[in-house]
Amino acid sequence: MSSDAMLAKLRQLPKDIERYELLRNLQQDNAELFFQLLFQHTEELLPYVYTPTVGQACQEYCARGFSTRGLYLSAADRGRMLQKLRAWPQQGISLAVVTDGERILGLGDLGVGGMGISEGKALLYTVAGGVPPSSVLPVCLDVGTNNKALLEDPTYTGLKQRRLTGAAFDAVMDEFVSAVQAWRPHVLVQFEDFGNVNAFRVLDRWRERCCCFNDDMQGTAAVALAGLLAGMRATGGSLEQQTFLFLGAGEAGTDLLAGLRATGGSLAQQTFLFLGAGEAGTAIGELISQQLMRRHGLSLQQARGRCYYVDSKGLVCAARRQELQHHKLPFAHDRPFLPDLETAVRQLKPSVLIGVAAQPGVFTATILSLMAQQHQHPVIFSLSNPTSLAECTAQQALEATAGRAVFASGSPYPPLVLPGGRQVFPAQANNAYVFPAVGHAAVLTRCSSIPDAVFLEAAEALGAMSSSQQLAQGRLFPPLSEIRTACEQLTAHLVQFMVGSGLGQLPEGVAAAPGAAAGWLGIVQQRCFAPPSGGGEHAASGGG
Ligand code: NAP
Ligand code: MN
Repeated sequence: MSSDAMLAKLRQLPKDIERYELLRNLQQDNAELFFQLLFQHTEELLPYVYTPTVGQACQEYCARGFSTRGLYLSAADRGRMLQKLRAWPQQGISLAVVTDGERILGLGDLGVGGMGISEGKALLYTVAGGVPPSSVLPVCLDVGTNNKALLEDPTYTGLKQRRLTGAAFDAVMDEFVSAVQAWRPHVLVQFEDFGNVNAFRVLDRWRERCCCFNDDMQGTAAVALAGLLAGMRATGGSLEQQTFLFLGAGEAGTDLLAGLRATGGSLAQQTFLFLGAGEAGTAIGELISQQLMRRHGLSLQQARGRCYYVDSKGLVCAARRQELQHHKLPFAHDRPFLPDLETAVRQLKPSVLIGVAAQPGVFTATILSLMAQQHQHPVIFSLSNPTSLAECTAQQALEATAGRAVFASGSPYPPLVLPGGRQVFPAQANNAYVFPAVGHAAVLTRCSSIPDAVFLEAAEALGAMSSSQQLAQGRLFPPLSEIRTACEQLTAHLVQFMVGSGLGQLPEGVAAAPGAAAGWLGIVQQRCFAPPSGGGEHAASGGG
């Protein structure tokens, strides 16, 4: 079947999950055509193989009887993991994406259905990051599930036991990471969608010992910081730029601006309020703090003092120190307790509001209007995935703020036209813009470990990519249709940084460090995968 015929067939299907399934089967039966389609129609097809549809796929993974090209390892494989890896037929693995299925997107514990998320991330490595598909291994570690419905579901194929915890869990993780290291010493391990009871501990244990990172913390933090930096450029540039941004906001909108507190321009001028103080939220706050320290001269304490959190019990503050999880303590400021988000927005007057709580609709019209009353260009990031769990939609954020908000969401929204006629392309702040480049760069340079400095570099580079015209259209990041080019540039930047800072080595076959950025880009492009034929503008330039 030709790619046009396949695309037509896909478009005719009534449901997104059916498109997911068709694409999944195509990957198995005709990988060449599959990747051609994904490379040519990235923006259209990514939502089916990635968020939001991948969420439903994980929920129904066993019930639909999906078979995987990924590797399952279970607690029952203790003592044999290295053996299983050695027996794995796929040669040349350089990258493993591993989940234990405990916190899939914002959907909770999906047990071995989590394999779908590892597979989705693996695809992004190829489609965005240019890593050959044969080099990426999706892994699901089955340590049981606490999802009652799955435990009672006859179609569920995972271990029918409650999740291992504490030392028993750690033993499985330890064996897995050690086995990967023993199998192939330079394999990068990406931790994905672990529950926060384990995620912080696992990362702390391994981050300096091997080449690994946690995508939900570090990848997400980098994309969020990049979005903020782009947002600062959108709102803080020259007067001309400001006028450009308001075009189409209408007279009423422009009048409203008089007397408002001027914001924008600098990260150091912002007050950040997060809904959700879990993996994503606290990691974003930490990376913002690092950036405020390195570029704006704040102390760590001052920088963290700009970040406030509301969790399921209200404002994270000093009075709650006794009951707070470890990762929240740096942000437990000495301030009176506030019971909920609306009160916190009224009292703290944040200029930046970030949703990472997987609570749909909690950015109410009242809260969004408050943000607009308090700031000229409030930043509203509704990052929870999938779409069904977003704190607010793009439309809601822009309507409630007369089009003045700087908006981004975790899952995609279609373009919209504001009442004054301005067209907005809502930004998708998804870690897909970051992890494929970080991972590919780490693999190319055989990086020994991936410190936060890498994610700061990634955030600054990504945050600088959109042109002022794109920013004026709401695009804080390059369009998804250009994600490959953007990722190549980011990868090249990170390869240069990793080699320059001694974290990694020159890629194989490169004798000396090139003098200019273009040289690094050339090195990366030569190593990027592209489907063999019919792959549009890119296939011609990319090697095998
Ligand atoms: P997590 O570690 O489980 O944290 C969730 C946080 O939300 C917790 O702090 C929890 O409060 C809080 N929360 C739950 N219900 C709440 C409520 N009613 N009001 C206020 N706070 C509430 O999860 P995570 O890893 O941070 O992920 C959270 C969301 O971010 C998910 O939807 C995920 O898809 C999304 N995410 C997006 C991206 C992206 O690239 N856009 C990347 C990673 C994650 P307690 O601490 O009190 O329990
Ligand atoms: Mn994730």
